[in-house]
Amino acid sequence: MVPFIYDAIYSDLDLPERHRYPIQKYQLLYQWALAHGANNDQFIRPQPLTWSQVSIAHSDEYINKLINYQFDKKEWRKVGFPWSTQLLTRTLTSAGGTFETVKTALRSGIAIHFSGGYHHAHHDWGSGFCLINDLAISALLASQENPSLKILVFDTDVHQGDGTAVLLKEHANIFTCSIHGERNFPFTKAESDLDIALPKGTQDAHYLEVVQRTLTSLVSDVKPDLILYDAGVDIYRRDDLGHLDISIEGIYARDHFVLDYAKQHGISVAAVIGGGYQRNLSRLILAHAQLLRASHHVWDTTE
Ligand SMILES: [Zn+2]
Repeated sequence: MVPFIYDAIYSDLDLPERHRYPIQKYQLLYQWALAHGANNDQFIRPQPLTWSQVSIAHSDEYINKLINYQFDKKEWRKVGFPWSTQLLTRTLTSAGGTFETVKTALRSGIAIHFSGGYHHAHHDWGSGFCLINDLAISALLASQENPSLKILVFDTDVHQGDGTAVLLKEHANIFTCSIHGERNFPFTKAESDLDIALPKGTQDAHYLEVVQRTLTSLVSDVKPDLILYDAGVDIYRRDDLGHLDISIEGIYARDHFVLDYAKQHGISVAAVIGGGYQRNLSRLILAHAQLLRASHHVWDTTE
């Protein structure tokens, strides 16, 4: 069975009414998994990160400001969440979940995090619902434990992984790739090791061709031991923030390709669900569930 990493705290955050962030989606995805054959033994509950672990990617000054509620109004507006101790606990637990996913994937070949992908968090500022960069922190912690480990961060969320790109820029054994919407947030793009910007309205056939060609050439050039995969579903045509024209079948095909290709090449995959923004939660959950379906078909069935 594919290991799933989840904590009920992911959906446990009080937000103002009509807030754009679909905070319930984590719990709903967990319920979807249980209703579709996952069993309780499959789930691993993560340890929250410590602030000292967070400091592998973020400045002490930033961490102190965050803990002590010392951002100014402009900084909070950029983040998009109201401050609370609940937010801090959730943030540390979710980032701990991504690190747990990495460790589990290195043991099992695959692990899926029912959260994660806070790729807009930078060294000393937060942005776009991202306070600390779970992808960069987890890659750096894994690299600290095993310096020879080669990691590919393969970010297919519709928004560029700008924070991740900057935070991992100087690291020789970590390669960052972002495939994202060209005219979308963040409007000032950072420089990943490889960026592919797609025009508005991109459809399945072209999208899948780009994902397949890119991953194939990266596996051959980078030779990663681990792929840290951001499977954001804001590429979906019904997404409120996406601007691409990808179908549910296209999301499944992308996820299936990435997981299957990695498995065939003996590369571990730590996947996070990433972004996805819709008021219609059942449709949003169905989009995120494609990653679970794909993992089941690649790893649990033998036909
Ligand atoms: Zn996104």
